Amino acid sequence: MTALTPRPSILTIEPYVGGESKIPGVNRIIKLSSNEGAFGPPPGAIAAIARMAAEAHRYPDGNATRLREAIGAKFGLDPARILCGNGSDELIAYLILAYGGEGTELIMPAHGFVMYDLTGRYAGCRVIKVPERNLMADVDAMLAAVGPRTKLVCLVNPNNPTGALLPRAEVERLRRGLRDDILLILDAAYAEYVTDPDYDPGHRLVDASGNTVMTRTFSKIFGLGGMRVGWAYMPPAVADVIGRIRGPFNVNAAGMAAAIAALEEPGWIERSVAHNTEWRAKLAAGLEAAGIKAWPSACNFVLADFGTPERARAADAALRARGVIARGVAGYGLPSCLRITVGTAEECMLVIETLAAFMRDAG
Ligand SMILES: *Cc1c(COP(=O)(O)O)cnc(C)c1O
Repeated sequence: MTALTPRPSILTIEPYVGGESKIPGVNRIIKLSSNEGAFGPPPGAIAAIARMAAEAHRYPDGNATRLREAIGAKFGLDPARILCGNGSDELIAYLILAYGGEGTELIMPAHGFVMYDLTGRYAGCRVIKVPERNLMADVDAMLAAVGPRTKLVCLVNPNNPTGALLPRAEVERLRRGLRDDILLILDAAYAEYVTDPDYDPGHRLVDASGNTVMTRTFSKIFGLGGMRVGWAYMPPAVADVIGRIRGPFNVNAAGMAAAIAALEEPGWIERSVAHNTEWRAKLAAGLEAAGIKAWPSACNFVLADFGTPERARAADAALRARGVIARGVAGYGLPSCLRITVGTAEECMLVIETLAAFMRDAG
């Protein structure tokens, strides 16, 4: 008898491991492992989810019309070029499955987001991870890695888990250097946190080219990770392709209602950005004062570099002893680092105090 087997590339995938949320024996957990936003869900979103409960028997609007219009109005984009997904992860998967596949190559920076690696393998692509320069995507090296089979280039900007922001001119240079039959995915999951006035999350490049897509999410600054809502801005031809393969009701009704309410929450982005900018700087300064390198970040987290894997693991244990869960990033090839989400002021202070004491003890 022959055993049942999936396509070979699937068995090379290590299942995704999310940020942990529990420590055995600890009641009060401070979860700084998944960049979920410092303030919880917007109050208007909580109310919208509650209102949706009585309508739970109804199928959602399969075209996400109101949500796409709300996103378009908020960000000044054409709703016809927006597609929503069950988290941006779903849209990323559709894009890679639609344009990649066996015999093709997907190029990403060495420390890019792991979903591109996982989904690329799922699709059967050869995933090429290009070395970075100082934890920053290296456009020359990425262009040099392009071959005749390259179909996809995936860039998270600013990047998770490094926090690095690639300057707009560099992103444009990357697109200019790619053939027209290569899809460039710009993942801007942290776009709302960026304060650099020169930053373009991808709006301009999508408008200017027929082969660039920008993905966004409600899981980070909007505090709705549990609702699973993401969106992408894309050329009409790509929207047509994804429109053929997506599930007809891929975004749920409560998630759509919550996302619309989050967009309407007065001052939510402004307050979140102000808090993040202030406390990301304080967190980084506190780490540096304790003798820990904090990599520059444009996101709502800081990549803390302890120099050695042993010290990073010991620091993780010290944080856990105080109920704080950071994100180990050994799986990203960064075993000496921990990624720490910018939480509330109190949470940031606790991290700073805990790690300062840890470094004093470690000597
Ligand atoms: C969190 C994150 C996502 C996933 O977002 P969802 O919308 O929750 O699927 C995508 N890309 C990056 C870089 C992220 O950090």
